[in-house]
Amino acid sequence: MAKIIDGKAISAQIRAELREEVSKMNTKPGLAVILVGDDLASHTYVRNKKAACEEVGMYSEVHYLPGETTESELLELIEKLNRDEKIHGILVQLPLPAHINESAVIKSIDPGKDVDCFHPYNVGRLTIGEPVFLPCTPAGIMELLSRSGIEVAGKRCVVVGRSNIVGKPIAIMLLHANGTVTVCHSKTKDLAEECRRAEILVSAVGRAGFITADMVSTGAVVIDVGINRGPDGKLCGDVDFAAVEPKASYITPVPGGVGPMTITMLLKNTLVAAKQRV
Ligand code: NDP
Repeated sequence: MAKIIDGKAISAQIRAELREEVSKMNTKPGLAVILVGDDLASHTYVRNKKAACEEVGMYSEVHYLPGETTESELLELIEKLNRDEKIHGILVQLPLPAHINESAVIKSIDPGKDVDCFHPYNVGRLTIGEPVFLPCTPAGIMELLSRSGIEVAGKRCVVVGRSNIVGKPIAIMLLHANGTVTVCHSKTKDLAEECRRAEILVSAVGRAGFITADMVSTGAVVIDVGINRGPDGKLCGDVDFAAVEPKASYITPVPGGVGPMTITMLLKNTLVAAKQRV
């Protein structure tokens, strides 16, 4: 039987620490969130981010822009927020409408306010081991590991998925933590064999039931980043939890594992950004 890594509890613990830290600061850290269009899921994410800021005593403002907003209008707003002294973090909720160039928008954010850690400057700093901000979901995974007492150094770590948001940055962070890292993707030959080598297995694919018990070796730590709907319509991860859990030493559930950590790490980055400005 695996130990279940309780992301909700760990997240609550970190938020309490952040709240304490914020209460001692002279400057109130401020986060601006920009949402373009009326994607329902994005609206929920944005609401949750605003509520999380309030929970830890941070300032937040949400800019709701219509779907037909032009790229230059969006860039103009970002420029204004770059100069706004009460704003320490700027987050543009993705995905953006197709007529807006996502890369240009990310690059327009002041790297010192790039609390998502998507700007090439911050990605570069992360890669050379001198990060200012840590990307939120991977940072959440590292917190789950360290706060569960799981040592990464010297372990064989296998990451399935190579997106810029999860797969690549978590691979880099595990490497910096002295793991021996393998990154797998859709062109990997014999994925099951690669996964079986893992002492720490991170799945960020986005397919329900993708990681089956035969892909996991006994005693592995299994981190499930996926957020999917199962055949029953319920929220689930990439891992076949019922079959894998008895083999693993530690496992994150979905929901309640990696998910709750992402916004908490965004709050942490906003705090880091505010501290740098004072
Ligand atoms: P992407 O779709 O950008 O990346 C998926 C990755 O999975 C790709 O690298 C792809 O490989 C790989 N992949 C797809 N099929 C296979 C296969 N058959 N074998 C091996 N690899 C495969 O997704 P994201 O990284 O953005 O997200 C992954 C999951 O994590 C999603 O479910 C998402 O919802 C969730 N997520 C959760 C977050 C949280 O807060 N908990 C935050 C962000 C994401 P290739 O590159 O070759 O195409």
